[in-house]
Amino acid sequence: MSARAETDPDFRALFEAVPANYVVLAPDAPVFTIVAASDAYLAISLTTRDGVVGRGLFDVFRDANPANLHPTGIANLRASLETVLRTRKAHRMPTQRYDVQRPDGTWVVRHWEPRNSPVLAADGSVRFILHEVEEVTGYVTARESEVDARLQAERRLRESEEARTEIDVARQRSDAVLASIADAFYLLDRDWRFTYVNDAAEPLLQTTRDKLLGHTLWEMFPGVIGSPFEGPYREAMATGRVTSAEAYFPPLGTWFDVHTYPWPGGLMVHFRDIGARKIAEAERERLVHALDVERTRLTEVFRRAPSFMVVFRGPKNVYEIVNESYYQLVGHRDIVGKPLLEAIPEIRDQGFDEIITRVRETGEPWVGREAPVTLQRAPGAPMEVRYLDMVFQALTEADGTRSGVIVHGSDITAQVLARREVEHLLGESERARAEAEAARRDAESANRSKSEFLAIMSHELRTPLNAIGGYTELIELGIRGPVTSEQRSDLARIQQSQRHLLGLINGVLNYARVEAGAVSYDVVNVSLDEILTTCEALIAPQVRARHLTLAYTPAAGVRVRADPDKVQQIVLNLLSNAVKFTESGGSISLGCAPAGDGASAFVQVEVTDTGIGISPDQLARVFEPFVQVDAKLTRTREGTGLGLAISRDLARGMGGDLEARSTLGEGSTFTLTLPRA
Ligand code: ADP
Repeated sequence: MSARAETDPDFRALFEAVPANYVVLAPDAPVFTIVAASDAYLAISLTTRDGVVGRGLFDVFRDANPANLHPTGIANLRASLETVLRTRKAHRMPTQRYDVQRPDGTWVVRHWEPRNSPVLAADGSVRFILHEVEEVTGYVTARESEVDARLQAERRLRESEEARTEIDVARQRSDAVLASIADAFYLLDRDWRFTYVNDAAEPLLQTTRDKLLGHTLWEMFPGVIGSPFEGPYREAMATGRVTSAEAYFPPLGTWFDVHTYPWPGGLMVHFRDIGARKIAEAERERLVHALDVERTRLTEVFRRAPSFMVVFRGPKNVYEIVNESYYQLVGHRDIVGKPLLEAIPEIRDQGFDEIITRVRETGEPWVGREAPVTLQRAPGAPMEVRYLDMVFQALTEADGTRSGVIVHGSDITAQVLARREVEHLLGESERARAEAEAARRDAESANRSKSEFLAIMSHELRTPLNAIGGYTELIELGIRGPVTSEQRSDLARIQQSQRHLLGLINGVLNYARVEAGAVSYDVVNVSLDEILTTCEALIAPQVRARHLTLAYTPAAGVRVRADPDKVQQIVLNLLSNAVKFTESGGSISLGCAPAGDGASAFVQVEVTDTGIGISPDQLARVFEPFVQVDAKLTRTREGTGLGLAISRDLARGMGGDLEARSTLGEGSTFTLTLPRA
């Protein structure tokens, strides 16, 4: 302490220089001896320091102005001081009238706003009372005056305002000085030397008091020169006016808020590190900007969203915000600010008002899928049903209350209608398919009945026909008596007709059985050569009889998966056709080849002749039942027109096929395809 004695500031001088009205009182009630007073106080109370210090407060200020008919100031002040002594807490008094006496004995009316604060000792007892007053006479006078002349009133008002401003400035100044005690401050003498540095200042200046004391500001902080702080410092020192500056100070890497308070010994500098505040401010600005951008973006999203959005507020479900898509849905009506039922009257009784209310009251969201809504979308337009997918959600405030409901969704009418149309069409086509299926089943069963009928009929017809043949033979053999040569030739004709008819009926029976599905296939893995050799042997007599040649190329080693009897039946039919439709001297060939390339799963049997051939238009029809190419030929060449139809059915029944190619007048080739074993 003593080491710093010469650099210690003169606190009494400092106190007396404070630009506020202070009196320090001893707690020696009821005297309240005046211990010290600020210059400002002495000036305002029209006293001198010598005239008041050491005397009792109420001894000095008697408030004995005979013009004041109801002096209450003294009593009130005494009560306030006693309250402070009792409570040891600051006490602020309402505005008081408390007149003061000039040295010449005349009185001046004064109004005050006093505040009494205890200065406590370490043991908690009251050591001093700090009596602080604001002189508000101008203000009070202006307020109380009932001056008729308007100009005068205004002038007074202006004066009172000026007075008020002065008071404010004075108060700010004194507040700043007092507050600075706890904050960082240092004192500079008139040569800019540090004479005092308080504890709070050390960390902010990033150095210690001992390093600073005795040195000049410019020496210790050369960075101040040319900085925004230099000017205010110099101005304060030169003019004695309070100055301030707020700027970034690069040498210490932060922002400072500096206030200078000149006093007779130099400058008191009060300062704060506001770097954190500046960063916070910048951050706040950045956030505000980001928020602004975000808000703009959200507004845009909301406005332009393809789905509709609405915010309803309050218990009446009043439209607060709606976007463009919503207007497109309900039509461009004046709805914002109106309750739902008023804005869209046709919505009544459709349940939506109730849903919004329920969602707001319970907080439970509501989801509508393809919800039909009936709307009149333009004035005078007919009611229209729109289908909507939508979600209703309660809007919750920060305090947890639910004040509104947001509804968003899409108009899916087009999709719903399109889907319904598709469903309708699908139903139709399904019906059509079922009808076609039923028709096909009917046709199949009709066909089967026909084939069954034919099979039965053929069988029934064969019995009497066989009887005709038998009895004709009996007569021809002369068992019933002698037969004339004319009768014999008649009998021959009867027999020929009977055989023809029997052939026809057998053919019909065969065909009918195949068609009716009554044929069963005994499919085995069989040597094709064996079947073809048999066929060759069986057809040989007819070939010879008609003076034809038959060339058979053996199918050595070729095996097929087929019913051997059916294959033989088909090949014999083809060979006998070739014999029938080839003139004497012609030739027939029978052979086999793999279908397509050698890797094929099929084998082809070919019967080729050099006969009359079949015209292209007839070729397509020869496989149809009862088709014979030339009626004239029918007479000369017996047949039923069923052979090829039956043969192809049989070939297909075994997983194969039968096809023909021919050139009229040159010959024909029939190809039987069978699965290779
Ligand atoms: P059909 O019992 O009359 O022979 P098909 O069904 O076997 O009955 O033959 C139908 C018709 O196909 C024959 O009537 C004939 O006109 C024609 N046809 C069949 N094979 C040959 C062939 N190799 N050459 C010429 N025409 C033929």
